[in-house]
Formats: sequence, C-alpha cells, structure tokens
Amino acid sequence: MLLQDRLQHAGLRNVRTHESVGVLFIDLDDFKHVNDTHGHHVGDELLVAVAHRLSALVRPDDTLARVSGDEFVFLCERLSDRTDAERLVERIEAAFELPFELSGVQLTLSASVGLAIADPGEEITDGLLVEADTAMYRAKRRSGRDTRLLGRFDALDLAAGSLGCQLRTALDADELDVAYQPMVRTSDGSITGVEALVRWTHATRGAVSPAVIVAVAEQTELINEVGAWVLERSCEDHQRWLAGREGLSLDLAVNVSVRQLRVPDFVGMVTMVLAATGTRPEALILEVTESILMDDADRAHLVLEELRELGVRIALDDFGTGFSSLSYLQQVPADIIKIDRSFVAGIDVTPNASAILAAVTDLAHVLSLPVTAEGVETRSERDEVRTIGYEYAQGFFYAHPMSAAAIEQLLRRTGRDAGHLPSADGGPSELAGPKAPAAPTR
Ligand code: C2E
Ligand code: MG
Ligand code: MG
Repeated sequence: MLLQDRLQHAGLRNVRTHESVGVLFIDLDDFKHVNDTHGHHVGDELLVAVAHRLSALVRPDDTLARVSGDEFVFLCERLSDRTDAERLVERIEAAFELPFELSGVQLTLSASVGLAIADPGEEITDGLLVEADTAMYRAKRRSGRDTRLLGRFDALDLAAGSLGCQLRTALDADELDVAYQPMVRTSDGSITGVEALVRWTHATRGAVSPAVIVAVAEQTELINEVGAWVLERSCEDHQRWLAGREGLSLDLAVNVSVRQLRVPDFVGMVTMVLAATGTRPEALILEVTESILMDDADRAHLVLEELRELGVRIALDDFGTGFSSLSYLQQVPADIIKIDRSFVAGIDVTPNASAILAAVTDLAHVLSLPVTAEGVETRSERDEVRTIGYEYAQGFFYAHPMSAAAIEQLLRRTGRDAGHLPSADGGPSELAGPKAPAAPTR
C-alpha cells in the first residue's frame, strides 16, 4: 500500500519537477528450491537477510517494498538520469555477491532485476511497475544475455571464492590500482589537485566498478585495508609528482568510507602514512559523504575534528544526494563541499536547476565553504558552473581519471606553458598548470 501511495505521489510530483522516476523489480532466483530443500524456516530467514541487505541501499528518496513472496521493488524518485538507477543496480549486484549465513546453512543466491524508467514529465501509473516486472521476466528468461541478471555465480567463480575473497587476493597480489582525476579552478582552468579513485581489473570479469569494490570491501571489512592502501599509494605518487617541482601546490583528495572512520585508530593510520611518505597534511583532502551523520554522528565529528587538527582538510562528497539539511551543513566539520554530479548533469538545459544550485552555493559561501562541481562534462555546463560561482570543478570536460604516469606528463606539459589539453570529445578544454595554493587551507 505504501508503494502504491508513493507511486501515485511520484506521479503528481513528476508533472512539475522534471525528474525521472525509476522502478526496479527484483526477483530472487530459485527461491522455491531453497524452501523445498532447506525448509520454510530457512526460506523465511533468507528473505529477512535479503531485505536487510537491500535496505542498506535505500537513499532518502527511495522506497523499498516487498511486493510478494520473493519479490522486492525499489521506487526511486528524483533520478537525475539513467546512470543513477544503474548505479543502484550495481550496488544491488554487490549485495548478492556474498553468501547468506543462515541457521546452519550458508547459501549463495542470485536475483533477476528489471528496470523501468519514466522520463521527466511522463505520466506515472501502475504501468511502470508492470513494465519493470516484464523487464525482470525477460531478464530471467534470457539468462542475462542482453538484459540484467545479477549476482549469478558460475561454478568456477564459486570454486575460486566470492568476490570478497578475490579482493583479498587482489590486495595481497597488488592487483589494485589508483586512477587520478584532475580538479581545477573554474576561473582559469588551472589544476589545483587530483582525486584518487581506486581501480581493480579482475582477471575474468574485467574492470570492477569502484562502487562494487567499495560495497564488497565494506561487507567484508576489507575496507580498512583497501582504504589504507589507496591512501598510501596515492601519497607516494603525490610525492613523486612534487619531486623537483619546488613551490608546486597540488592537493591530493582521497575518498574515505564511513566504515573507516569507525576504526579506533583511523587518525593514527593517516598520521603514519603522511609521515612515512613525507606528505604535508595541508596537501591532503579526505572526502566523506553525508552518510557520516547517519550512524554515530558524534564519533564521526570527533574523528573529523582530529583530522583537521592535523591540518588535513575534509570535503563533503556527493553533496545533495544523501542526508543534507541546513542544520547538518552547519554542524559538519567540513572545509569544502562537492556538489554531486547528478545536479550538474544537464544544468544548462534543465529548468530551475541552476537556480537551485546557485542557492546551495550561496549557502555554502555564507558558511565560508568553497564549492566544487562534480561531473562537468560539457562546455556549457562549465560556463553555467562558472557563472554560478563555483570555485572548483571536476569532470570529463576537463579530464578523465588517468594513471599516475599520465598525471606526471600532464604536469610536465602544463607546468611549462600552462597549455591547453584536448578534452574527451576532441575539442579543446581549458586545463592549465597548477598555480597559487588551491582550496584555502586554514
Ligand atoms: P566520487 O568520489 O564522487 O568520484 C567521482 C566519480 O565520478 C568517479 O567515478 C569519476 O570517474 C566520475 N566522474 C568524474 N567526472 C565525471 C563526469 O564528467 N561524468 C561522469 N559521468 N562521471 C564522472 P568512479 O571512479 O567510478 O568512482 C565512483 C565512486 O566510488 C566515487 O565517487 C567514490 O565514492 C567511490 N570510490 C572510488 N575510489 C574510492 C576509494 O579509494 N575509497 C572509497 N571509500 N571510495 C572510493
Ligand atoms: Mg570523491
Ligand atoms: Mg562525488
């Protein structure tokens, strides 16, 4: 009933908000088989466990419902685009990677997912549910060939262990890598720093999305090791870039999972890595998401304050997608705000989008926080972002994430003549060498 109600509500809102609405229909594969072989009590336990894992993926604008025996539905209001829903699909995929531990049995389960999206302004009715359901059945029948069939292990995969175990191996065997995306000052396109983004090329699956890596790492507690590894590797690379470039100011931004902040000596780990690699704390920006306030906010605050005392800056990443409220913004110990790319996408064409962004930016400025626009992909988005008054930007328009060696080359090139670099679409982007100190240090 709640789902029906929310769907109706989404229909009313959609007429004026110009946002997409997505429905994901999730059906567990071979659930009947679980009931038949292990008994109904195990089946029930499994449903509860699945519901728990799926609940962890719910964002403030989502509704998760169980619609029948083994069927679940995600209703996502306020989708900025299709990739938003696809990100969620990836996270659902990750949720089925690990086996479920039930009384006496360990079960590995897969699920089929169907996705239906209503575009901005499109009428939303029950028909959207039916469409998602149909897509799900199609996915099941075609065994995932051209539609979605998620979390399916083949026998080989199972023998080799879950993705979690493989991540452990990858970590030990140094199979992970870090890509770096330049961050720029919007006024002149000069590079102020780089953001470190974890990469993993799996032997048989190919590239594993960072969203999946992080979700799997969080579920297996490997997140602390992966996080520490990324920090150390990127500090080493950062030191190498600075070598022989006296006076160069280049920020290094590293993403931190909420889970990492819970480890008793997170600050000690950061201090050690900074010392071991010779990195100045003032060069480091740690990016956390708004979800830090969702659990144990007091502790998170203490940890962030301790980090700031070291001289490290804190950026609020993906701002606007989570638990944002005015009071929150006032409380959280942050130095920089990064507005999520879903707000930036299409900013030049979506009505009211720039007005909303401008208001958020003004708010950040009242709190004396500089703002970074994420996901700037086109020249006109860049223009819009510049007009609104963002200090910093990041996105494919300026540069894609690249290897440490490519950053080295970029610094060599831009350092010499503050030159221009071809952008992804072949047109000129304005990427110039690093200049005066970047985001203000306190
Ligand atoms: P994020 O921190 O918001 O990083 C920005 C993401 O947006 C990156 O995706 C980047 O490749 C992508 N991006 C940058 N510019 C554009 C653009 O113009 N258009 C589009 N469509 N995308 C753009 P990536 O590398 O897939 O990382 C996804 C997320 O995974 C990151 O989002 C971050 O939350 C997380 N992540 C990545 N590396 C790490 C890590 O080492 N530790 C932790 N805890 N999380 C990480
Ligand atoms: Mg980030
Ligand atoms: Mg972000």
